[in-house]
Amino acid sequence: MNKSKVVVITGASSGIGEATAKLLAKDGSKLVLGARRENRLKDIAESIEKLGGEAAYQSTDVTDDDQVESLAKLAIDKFGRIDVWLNNAGIMPQSILSEKKITDWNNMIDINIKGTLYGIGAAIPYMDKQKSGHIINVSSVAGHTAHQGSAVYSATKFAVRAISESLRQEMVDAKNNVRVTVISPGAINTELLSSVTDPDVKANMEKFYESFGIPVDRVALTIKEAIDMPADAAWNEVIIRPTNQLV
Ligand code: NDP
Repeated sequence: MNKSKVVVITGASSGIGEATAKLLAKDGSKLVLGARRENRLKDIAESIEKLGGEAAYQSTDVTDDDQVESLAKLAIDKFGRIDVWLNNAGIMPQSILSEKKITDWNNMIDINIKGTLYGIGAAIPYMDKQKSGHIINVSSVAGHTAHQGSAVYSATKFAVRAISESLRQEMVDAKNNVRVTVISPGAINTELLSSVTDPDVKANMEKFYESFGIPVDRVALTIKEAIDMPADAAWNEVIIRPTNQLV
């Protein structure tokens, strides 16, 4: 691969974002890390330098467009370009609709959908100028199917896929060589369950993840493969699920 790719990652302070940053660092990528927990980003940036990569980081709340724009500017100021933008920040406070957990609904919509849109909006002008780039959006198996309790989370992840397909077609039309990939993970052992606010749902999910969850590096490897694909081809949709996960 092009060892000096500049990769911006939202939700880089744990889980899939952190693992992807560290994996790409081994290839000499230049990482630009955003999330709200700045102390975590600082530690991860230090690990990246030790692994042979370069890193910049900035406290970023993806629900605030100005902060997302500022993360893009950090990438440009520090490294001069944006080759890959990974819209990964997300939360999963699932519950049944009759619980009417409006704060959770709004947070999922703001982080999972609007955060992804703001990332796309921040990255595209630079990629347009470069006439190259790669937007990778993290959806979920829950973005392919819905079940009791997953309504709003699934809706946000279906939305990520809809946005990604529209974006892909718009990028073709713009002739800017920008690739679009959606990664849809199944049960991956990360800190995601800490965002579940309903104690019963959380207990059930913990059991499910204990039985089926797989290590986070599986998703990082998938994202790296997508990035390493020759520039004239794109993995547009990938589901990466534990072998033994039924749905
Ligand atoms: P983690 O909880 O470990 O990571 C989530 C990341 O999102 C954290 O870095 C968190 O950082 C960040 N984040 C949350 N809210 C915001 C915000 N407002 N602004 C910026 N960053 C934010 O979970 P995962 O690594 O599992 O989750 C990553 C993505 O993968 C999510 O989109 C999730 O929906 C998706 N996914 C995960 C699956 C799994 O089984 N783990 C399955 C399918 C999809 P901070 O709190 O510091 O801001």
